[in-house]
Amino acid sequence: MLEKILVSSCLLGNPVRYDGTGATSIHPILQQWLAENRLIAACPEILACLPTPRSPAEIKGDNTGMGVLNQTAKVIEKSGKDITKIFIEGAEKTLTLVKKHNIKMAILKARSPSCASLQTYDGSFSLKFVDGQGVTSALLIKHGCKVFNEEHLKEAKEYFDNI
Ligand code: SF4
Repeated sequence: MLEKILVSSCLLGNPVRYDGTGATSIHPILQQWLAENRLIAACPEILACLPTPRSPAEIKGDNTGMGVLNQTAKVIEKSGKDITKIFIEGAEKTLTLVKKHNIKMAILKARSPSCASLQTYDGSFSLKFVDGQGVTSALLIKHGCKVFNEEHLKEAKEYFDNI
């Protein structure tokens, strides 16, 4: 069976980001996987029925996405509204998709409060970053799915070719 790869929907150009835009990656590795029909696209925030456009949100508290799963951090909209439960719902729906397709690797958008794999915004809405994952990445990692971002596709391909 063809090994599938999960990808953030916005990286394929779908206008699902909070500001109504996409974030198309034209990287040849991603394009190759697309041509091979390997990519399963998902946007955790859309899966959780958030609208587009929507308010920007950041993770506030200890340990970013892992902290959200462990209840030491929350996801807060710029207005101050707590939308933690919605982000967890999006992460769980994405995990269901990963399990359904037996996916072992994901390429998720850098720095997003859902999709980040290395760094995300620090919760102050001042364009500052902290090390850590978004909520969906944290949940996928917890369940054994390797997560890379679109800035590390070479490393992702090396990993994928050895699965
Ligand atoms: Fe892209 Fe992920 Fe944000 Fe959806 S939640 S717009 S897939 S970065």
